[in-house]
Amino acid sequence: MTIGESILKRRKDLGFSQEELAEKLLVSRQTISLWEKDQTQPTIDNLMRLKEIFGVSIDKVLCAEEDKETKINSDSLDTVCGALAYAMGIEPPKFAAPKNRELANYVDKVFDGKKADRIVMYNPDAIAQWIYEKYPEYLNSAKKNTGKEIYLSSVMPSVTPVCFGTLYTGAQPSVNGIQKYEKPVIAIDTIFDALIRAGKKVALICSEACSIGRIFLGRGIDYYCFRPEEGGLSAINAKAMELLLRDEHDFYVIYNGNYDSIMHKYGPESARALSELRMNDHIFGMICSLIKTHWQHHNTLVGFAMDHGCHEIDGNCGSHGLDMHEDLNIVHLYKGYLAKKD
Ligand SMILES: [Zn+2]
Repeated sequence: MTIGESILKRRKDLGFSQEELAEKLLVSRQTISLWEKDQTQPTIDNLMRLKEIFGVSIDKVLCAEEDKETKINSDSLDTVCGALAYAMGIEPPKFAAPKNRELANYVDKVFDGKKADRIVMYNPDAIAQWIYEKYPEYLNSAKKNTGKEIYLSSVMPSVTPVCFGTLYTGAQPSVNGIQKYEKPVIAIDTIFDALIRAGKKVALICSEACSIGRIFLGRGIDYYCFRPEEGGLSAINAKAMELLLRDEHDFYVIYNGNYDSIMHKYGPESARALSELRMNDHIFGMICSLIKTHWQHHNTLVGFAMDHGCHEIDGNCGSHGLDMHEDLNIVHLYKGYLAKKD
């Protein structure tokens, strides 16, 4: 794709006319037209402005990615819930979308047609597919410890309560009731309710203020919600390890919001955000090794399952919530650990 084609595509994606884009850049409409026909090229200053207007990095201004990457993934996040219920052999929650076929097939294969008796969902926040693809070295454990990538599109608006509302009800935001950044308790059936009906025990480990800690309250599950003064992330993960060792629950949700909060402040690709990514990877690696060594008698399905992606905005900050592939495309990683026969 030429620079001109790329500018044209990004302008059209945002729904701007040549006049509107020209106005924002303080150049003439003819200038935009010449760029788009590759007859002239933008100056560095103009590229910097284009980067801000388009909300993408310079290399993406110069080359809007080819179709494969700019497309929104076809499987929706709402399909995961049904597949998790299927993996455990329980009825899905009442409004769940049909189960994700790929995940269900993987479960059948890895457990030899049997079911999982444990599911551990590790939920980091805001790790986009493009981050996963661009920085594999920061997600070594996640890649090494898992066997199945599920490419998904998150839901709109791509913010945490809306996405987790969909992940754990299997229902679109318009059905589960969380359609914006707010944290009411979800009234419709969730996977947690479905698990309880099936006699399963659920542990939810998170920070007290986070979406997961609020929107799923009031159910017969064990909540371990920590305040920042109680140690924040380290308290959450220490409790998670303790509970996994105790092995008294069937379904675990472990939420880590560290990448998201640093990404907002310093940008998705900043050194500080990437070190949070490495932290998530490290925690997930610890969870997997604990399962491998202590849960050999269980069929366990483990997920590295984020809520939505992110993109860079002005001033090296990060954001999400928009209808763009950077925010919507995510990759869940799953691994089935088959019980050892003795
Ligand atoms: Zn966020």
